[in-house]
Amino acid sequence: MARKKNRRPAGPPETIRRRIRVRGIVQGVGFRPTVYRLAVERGLGGWVLNDAEGVLIELEGPEAGVDSFVSTLANDPPPLARITAIESESVAPLGEREFRIAPSAAGRRVALVSPDMATCDDCRRELLDPADRRYRYPFINCTNCGPRYSIMLDIPYDRPATTMGRFTMCAECQAEYDDPADRRFHAQPNACPVCGPRLALHGADGRPVACADAVAAVREALLAGRIVAVKGLTGFHLAADARSDVAVRELRRRKGRDEKPFAMMAASAEAVARRARVGEAERALLESRERPIVLVPKRPDHDLSPGVAPRSPYFGFMLPYAPVHYLVFENDFPPMVMTSGNLAEEPICGDNTEAVRRLEGIADLFLVHDRPIQTVCDDSVAMVQRGRPLILRRGRGYAPRPIALAVEAPETILAVGPELKNAVCLVRASEAFVSQHIGDLKHPLAADYFEKTVEKMERLLEIRPTALAHDLHPAYYSTRYARRRAEEEGLRLVAVQHHHAHIASVMAEHGLEGDLVGLAMDGTGFGADETVWGGEILRASPARFERLGHLACVSLPGGDAAVEHPVRTAWSFLLEAYGPEEAERRLVGRLAETRSKDRRIWADMVAKGVSAPRACGLGRLFDAASVLAGVSAENTYEGQAAIELEAAAGDRPDEADPYAFALADAPAAGGGWVIDTVPIIRGVVADAEAGLDAALISARFHATVAVMLHAAARRAREETKLERIALSGGCFANARLVRLLAAALEADGFEVYVHRDVPPGDGGVALGQAYVAAARMRTPNGERRAPSKLGG
Ligand SMILES: [Zn+2]
Ligand SMILES: [Zn+2]
Repeated sequence: MARKKNRRPAGPPETIRRRIRVRGIVQGVGFRPTVYRLAVERGLGGWVLNDAEGVLIELEGPEAGVDSFVSTLANDPPPLARITAIESESVAPLGEREFRIAPSAAGRRVALVSPDMATCDDCRRELLDPADRRYRYPFINCTNCGPRYSIMLDIPYDRPATTMGRFTMCAECQAEYDDPADRRFHAQPNACPVCGPRLALHGADGRPVACADAVAAVREALLAGRIVAVKGLTGFHLAADARSDVAVRELRRRKGRDEKPFAMMAASAEAVARRARVGEAERALLESRERPIVLVPKRPDHDLSPGVAPRSPYFGFMLPYAPVHYLVFENDFPPMVMTSGNLAEEPICGDNTEAVRRLEGIADLFLVHDRPIQTVCDDSVAMVQRGRPLILRRGRGYAPRPIALAVEAPETILAVGPELKNAVCLVRASEAFVSQHIGDLKHPLAADYFEKTVEKMERLLEIRPTALAHDLHPAYYSTRYARRRAEEEGLRLVAVQHHHAHIASVMAEHGLEGDLVGLAMDGTGFGADETVWGGEILRASPARFERLGHLACVSLPGGDAAVEHPVRTAWSFLLEAYGPEEAERRLVGRLAETRSKDRRIWADMVAKGVSAPRACGLGRLFDAASVLAGVSAENTYEGQAAIELEAAAGDRPDEADPYAFALADAPAAGGGWVIDTVPIIRGVVADAEAGLDAALISARFHATVAVMLHAAARRAREETKLERIALSGGCFANARLVRLLAAALEADGFEVYVHRDVPPGDGGVALGQAYVAAARMRTPNGERRAPSKLGG
């Protein structure tokens, strides 16, 4: 360009015209106003419009201006936009000097639904600016923030098709909405105190309470130790003073929640940092516009009730994300428990009357509003592992943003997910839409929520599946749903083994093809041989897998009862380790609290093999170690014994002498070599008998599991010559274990892949099911090929 200028110093710069195609989440996120502003700032002519493929722009003017437009748009798009591609071609100039926003092109719009987003900085400033017409207005929003997915009734995403349709904009709001230069141009939930939704306060009986300032009344009630149901962006929370033992205990009693940690909201990252260790990565995650609950290691000197997160190493904190939260937490208001407004295991409440009905007897006060929540969504949960964010529960802020797949799926797919911690996944071409966390489908309300979520996502994303991917377990609600629907609608069914799906979900996230070694470590899952799997070393490709090895099985006296009461599992391990007579003489840790009568009954179940299924989940080994180390005797929520065992290690260094284990040389009958974990149990018992404290036993146990899985990975590498390894399964939410194992694997030359956008637990399984189904469609007979023909 400098040369051109030099050549024609006196003349005007040459005019060019370019047609620019932008793909991704570019509609309903303030994209056209940004384009308009960038074009006008540079004096460019042309137009922008929405069409079926995204956004189309034509720009006319000096080349330098056009280039600077494109690079600014690519590097600094509107906050909620996700650009997947910008394509540009030259066209003949038309002499256009003005820039305009053209009407949307006819035809089907590609519906990419934006998640609900935290209040942006601009809106926050206005919210607290006494001169602004939305001063302290709890529903302030703009195209860069506010409700999206939660208020959509249908497509296209226009106001009448949202729950804002019932509110008619006042003249001022309408003018903003119509002005392409305004931050609220086509902001569908645009509203103000004159024309928009309002807050209201209701008593415990659901009747309105007269008060001048609902927010002030709520703050006062919370400080007085009362429990308040707060309707936010995507559902209800139950709030209570996190510093008050009485309030926290009362909330647990009323909610029927024994010991599962409560999430909290704090006024700022600084307020969190006073109670927990907040590194740079944790702070960034806390302050991200997705605003997940972030698990942060507790500080010993905090001022919060021990009842908030008993015996967990972490606090779960989130920052305010809806305007009403900013008002409640104004002026460094103390941290509050902000737990999902529901009873244990039920989905979160969204509707006012439903909330009053379901939360009756729990909440003393209801802070509600009249903007209906069409799709409820739990808060997301995340943590930082090895410096990087990891999603543990995908919900508000993330769902239903798509995950990009490396290869297009040949058909549209619905993966219906597992039974527990269910989420579903819809795939169209190279986009995988993972739903929000749905929950445990054993619960009828969760099952209902599952069907509603599937229906809504298919409608809003305009995806009609032609294939359904499901778990192998025939009795799962999701499996039965898939089979019934396949029959009714003539859809193709693809059954996917649980642990294969786990590993495939890591592969999907990283766009991996070919074969790798997979470590799938969780509680239980239905195996290909109809036994219960759970500690799996696999050779896996997207389409197929082979079981290379697994942890030894142990009997679970009472099945699910043993999962809930890990003393049963610990006893079963002791029987394996010492036989019934000696086991009675070696009762250590929490096992010493059990009655001999119960132990006899459990031993009998194990000996006779009656209601004592054999399972090999790593989660069960953690359960037993936790009991024997004297840490935990109950799983009142999933993973409790393991989480408390991790917490017991405290600040003890990662390095610790591992216990013994045995990796068998010969493959067992039924496929794969077996890792004998009974020596580990003997080691834990010996340490407990020697009076070593739980912190040391926990550190040694974690070191052992890491060394054991590393040894298994080496064995797998010797057999397969594969160096890539994927880690998945709920056990890899354990930060100490992941730290130890990943470091050992990397030092040994492995290429290690872990989750980031979907949970390592069962919330990530649907993505894996979809990935497997897509791969099998591409190689239809693949699953019948001999393992030796598996190839990268
Ligand atoms: Zn905003
Ligand atoms: Zn208005």
